[in-house]
Amino acid sequence: MSRRSAVEDLAHSLPVTPFVAGHWQPESTQHAFDVVDPVTERRLVTVAEADAATVDKAVTSARVALDDGDWARLDGATRGRLLLAFAQLIEDRAEDFADLESLDVGKPGIEGRVIDLPQAVATFRYYAGWADKLTGQSIPTPGYQGRRTLSYTVRQPIGVVAAITPWNSPTMIASWKVAPALAAGCAVVLKPPEDAPLTSLLLARLAEEAGFPPGVFNVVPGRGATTGQALVDHPGVDKISFTGSPETGRIVAAAAARTFRPTTLELGGKSPQIVFADADLETAAAGVALGIFANQGEVCAAGSRILVARSVHDEFVDRLAAHAGKLVLGDPFDEGTTMGALINAKQRERVLRYIGIGRAEGATLVTGGGRPERSGYFVEPTLFADASPGMTIAREEIFGPVGTIIAFDGDEQAVSIANNSSYALAATLWTTDLSRAHTVAERVRAGAVAVNGWSPLDARLPWGGSKLSGLGRELGWAGIEANTELKTITVVL
Ligand code: NAD
Repeated sequence: MSRRSAVEDLAHSLPVTPFVAGHWQPESTQHAFDVVDPVTERRLVTVAEADAATVDKAVTSARVALDDGDWARLDGATRGRLLLAFAQLIEDRAEDFADLESLDVGKPGIEGRVIDLPQAVATFRYYAGWADKLTGQSIPTPGYQGRRTLSYTVRQPIGVVAAITPWNSPTMIASWKVAPALAAGCAVVLKPPEDAPLTSLLLARLAEEAGFPPGVFNVVPGRGATTGQALVDHPGVDKISFTGSPETGRIVAAAAARTFRPTTLELGGKSPQIVFADADLETAAAGVALGIFANQGEVCAAGSRILVARSVHDEFVDRLAAHAGKLVLGDPFDEGTTMGALINAKQRERVLRYIGIGRAEGATLVTGGGRPERSGYFVEPTLFADASPGMTIAREEIFGPVGTIIAFDGDEQAVSIANNSSYALAATLWTTDLSRAHTVAERVRAGAVAVNGWSPLDARLPWGGSKLSGLGRELGWAGIEANTELKTITVVL
């Protein structure tokens, strides 16, 4: 049996209904939606959609787990042990997760195996460590009406957390939301992406196996306008953690604003990669290529604005184009494939439309620009040079394998172009000058800056952006803060 058919069998063996209150919901009561394989363009599975009543059941069961259930009574160390058990079960099935995401998302398996799954497992382990360390502070106060006072803070779970994830890295991004929430003692309702829900269903199965009490971790598959909207509108949700597009982020933030619910928004990006004249050009070209072409460019932090010092521009463009030329587009299950398909036909058309705009705007097409003659939502790795910062392809998020190269003169201009963006998520700097690295890193407006490398994904490091890139931070201690409330207690002695 080929690897592809083995993974298709695995997909068919998964439960395809909502997981709510510790039970897989009966299919007959649900609507359904098809999940399509982006490489074969065939239906993979049909998943039962969580309707408003099922979402309500999930939120209610999460509330019960918090207020009356076993979860509320568990101490932090026990929560930590459950998270460790969950992490181990995910690690044991890491190959299956990676394969399922190749099938579901179209990405090469190496990305799941080397980045997404190790990151997801590490995130659960990292937050397992925090679960019994969520302390408050004792704060000296001057007293009350001549009597001494004892004032202190306690850190309490924020409550029921709605976690909404996109399709590009469903397991990893789910871990960023679920792990800190569970470590903090919250209960979670996860709404996975309708285009790639399979690994979130596998997560639910493993959470069941790990032994989380019913209602602590619920998964409600469904479309955004139905299941997602029902979840963000639900009055029982205390906090929303959303990753996706700015357009949907606005809808989610508006729903949250009605009752002032805290919301973390991880949205899009148009991240600059700045190559200075003193950079090691070959290392930079390899890193920049990874920054824009990894995961077919379907990465929020994709370094899609490539700013190159004019004196090294031509040489750098040649080197970068050589890296693009080495990429092998194909079925993720074929030996040698290094770039997969985009998620769906709509996304492919969107990317091709932007390529058309780039040509019309007068940028020079260096490489790519088309789609191969085969089934699947593929687009060639594409580079435009001689672009100006005002062009559409230099301003708008494409979310595909398209890099826009802009020449700059001097550090001031590089920083100014980098910061003249509606987004502020990530940036990479390529330089051998230590002083320049620190100075520019401080000045570039971005939630994360990497020097001489790309995207330092690590559960210990806060992640998030500002402007259209979002609101708040996930990961690190910030992930705990985002899932807890501080309560101040003063006792007059
Ligand atoms: P999307 O906004 O279309 O969907 C994201 C999620 O929101 C999906 O689960 C979807 O079903 C749900 N949704 C849609 N409408 C909703 C509604 N009305 N109410 C509640 N939920 C709703 O985004 P996408 O196409 O899945 O992902 C691509 C976008 O995500 C890109 O803009 C990308 O940059 C961004 N992204 C950001 C990060 C980050 O960490 N900043 C990571 C990955 C992707």
